[in-house]
Amino acid sequence: MKKFRMTACRGVLAVLGLGLVWPASPAAAQTTYLNDSVRTFVSRHRPAILQEFVEFLAIPNLASDTVNIRKNASALVRMLQRRGLETQLLGAGDAPPVVLARSPADPTKHTVTFYAHYDGQPVNKADWAHDPWQPTLVNAGTPGAADSDDSATRLYARSSSDDKAAIIGLLTALDALRAAGVPPSVNLKFFFEGEEEAGSPHLHEILAAHADVLQSDLWVICDGPTNQNGQPQLVFGSRGVVSAQLTAFGPNRALHSGHYGNWAPNPIVELTHVLSRLRTTEGEVTIPHFYDAVRPPTASERDALESVPNVDARLKAELGLARTEGQGALAERIMKPGLNVDRIEGGGTGPNPANAIPSSATAYLDFRLVPDLTPELVKAQLERYLRELGYYVLDGPPAASDRVAHPKPSFARSGPSRGATWCCYLRWGAAHRHICLNNTSGGRSSAFPSPITTTTNTPRTKI
Ligand SMILES: [Zn+2]
Repeated sequence: MKKFRMTACRGVLAVLGLGLVWPASPAAAQTTYLNDSVRTFVSRHRPAILQEFVEFLAIPNLASDTVNIRKNASALVRMLQRRGLETQLLGAGDAPPVVLARSPADPTKHTVTFYAHYDGQPVNKADWAHDPWQPTLVNAGTPGAADSDDSATRLYARSSSDDKAAIIGLLTALDALRAAGVPPSVNLKFFFEGEEEAGSPHLHEILAAHADVLQSDLWVICDGPTNQNGQPQLVFGSRGVVSAQLTAFGPNRALHSGHYGNWAPNPIVELTHVLSRLRTTEGEVTIPHFYDAVRPPTASERDALESVPNVDARLKAELGLARTEGQGALAERIMKPGLNVDRIEGGGTGPNPANAIPSSATAYLDFRLVPDLTPELVKAQLERYLRELGYYVLDGPPAASDRVAHPKPSFARSGPSRGATWCCYLRWGAAHRHICLNNTSGGRSSAFPSPITTTTNTPRTKI
């Protein structure tokens, strides 16, 4: 179940304050003044902020629900226009529109575009204690009497965190800055997507078709998690991903293990042996030349690691881990490329699986990528290595003739992919220590790093 901490907007508010008002080495006193002003604004206007948020969350927001997703876009337009912003719907056929909003532009200033998405993940209502589109305040300590001023209170609703919280945070930050009489030092654009959770199938098309109105000096992707220590986090890069599906084939039908075991090759066993050749239990990928193309972290990126909070000990306890893979802290380890086994399918399942040698077994893999390790390189390296290990690599299920001609028929198929980015172009400032700064993160969002990376060729960061 998604939950929204009543403090969740603070990250966006704080970064807006630091990033937009004083872009270069802000004096600590100014930062304190701005943050205090924003906190005062939020505490004074909490009921109104909450009311706007609740009304927005109450609109069902599955990208495939055409009627309701457009109601979300219309509501957003009203919320933005109420704040005097110029709005525009960027469409592509019947796709949920991107809602774009702009402040009046000053050509002498830089322009920053803030990204968030207003659609949400599919819902299984049986998993929910409340209707996901009837936002409900809950305080575990005082059931039935949740107080929005209590920091222990949570607001439960679909997208109350991912990612409508970012939208409300941005708009509230704008209100707070105005109330404090602090004009942004940059031109503002807001880009709110309506089908991120559906894989952003039209994002590239929309970015390309509207490149002129999307001109920007920086994109800030407001679709990331807080740091594991609970603090807001600004992330400067994202690991890419390429998925792969690897199938090993055995007999052309399942065989009784008593009658045929030790004679007919078992594809699950074949597959586990293949996997053991691809990576170690310490997270090192053992595909030849896998690391050759990897761009090593720069001196400033290595320095930056020093300021990333080390959450490893607490996380290990929380996750029930006696050890972690390899050497180094979490923030350092996720700067490396990696290979993850998502799942393995093969044989019978359920309470009474047959004692059988199955016909095939499939492993679903995802490779996490860093600059300059591309999806194409990984695909080529994996296929070459499988052949070196003696496997006959097909691009589809084997024909009967393939099965009898090749001792180790296998089928490797690549899945969706996107590139990785690192963009440590912003200064790491000592005055910003109350916000976590991190070199990279996972980044499931299809908006980060690609296709915004590839289509707009604009620097971006993520909060
Ligand atoms: Zn999201």
